Amino acid sequence: MPREAPARKTIATPLGESTLDAADLLNNTSYGPPIRVLPDVHVIKVGGQSFFDRGRSAVAPLVEEIAACAKSYQLLIGMGGGTRSRHAYSLGLELGLPTGILAAMGASTALQNAHLMQMLLAKHGGILTSFEEFEKLPLYLRAGCIPVMVGMPPFHHWERPPETGRIPANRTDAGVYLMAEFLGAKSMIYIKDEDGLYTDDPKKNPSATFIPHISAGELLAMDPNDLVIERVVLSYLQKAHHVRSVQIINGLKPGLLTRALAGEHVGTIITAE
Ligand code: ADP
Ligand code: MG
Repeated sequence: MPREAPARKTIATPLGESTLDAADLLNNTSYGPPIRVLPDVHVIKVGGQSFFDRGRSAVAPLVEEIAACAKSYQLLIGMGGGTRSRHAYSLGLELGLPTGILAAMGASTALQNAHLMQMLLAKHGGILTSFEEFEKLPLYLRAGCIPVMVGMPPFHHWERPPETGRIPANRTDAGVYLMAEFLGAKSMIYIKDEDGLYTDDPKKNPSATFIPHISAGELLAMDPNDLVIERVVLSYLQKAHHVRSVQIINGLKPGLLTRALAGEHVGTIITAE
């Protein structure tokens, strides 16, 4: 006989007597899926090292393309940290610092790029925003603004210990993905400097072959040595309610962002299943 719960002055809910960890409770799907908060928004991550650090020749045409696309689509831009975050991570690792401070430093280098991108987009409605201002996103989007954010998730000193080593596993690809999933975004597009995913890093292995479409499970099973997006994104994709695919495109090729936003299969699409 289960013991009777002591009388408490609580509001009765199906979760009332639970630890919130019981397996039978966690498996209970009676609440149904979450709503899509901003279902028309397209989240775009601009690669730091792969793209933004290439400077004007790469960035200026993309800024123009983003500005043109923002006339037809709601866009939310997340920025990577790039080469400066690599420098900060190396220094932090060499000094023996833990993952949490590396994650916090990663956020500050991505913020530098977000500052730069906002100014480049300013005349087209670029506005720097942050997770503390999520509630204002509808206003910015209705006003025709292009919100620009730090790609890094705000885990900072609370970044989960990685499987191996001390480099934060949740960096800017993961941050923008988790944001897109929370928002119930229409699409998640990564802008990099390669056509998409290959069997290996095409910069290091010229015989690597292009993969136009793959599922997260197939890619995890392949277990390549390196990937074009952060590995953790694959496991998040598999658990997603809303953003069940991501697209990786080559930002160095003008027009691909426009085509991706129009729903065309350019680059690589990685799907949840
Ligand atoms: P970002 O600056 O956007 O975070 P990264 O430099 O971290 O981008 O990752 C993109 C880079 O990943 C590409 O420029 C490419 O050289 C490399 N890469 C590693 N493995 C692969 C792969 N399997 N397929 C494609 N690119 C890969
Ligand atoms: Mg990266």
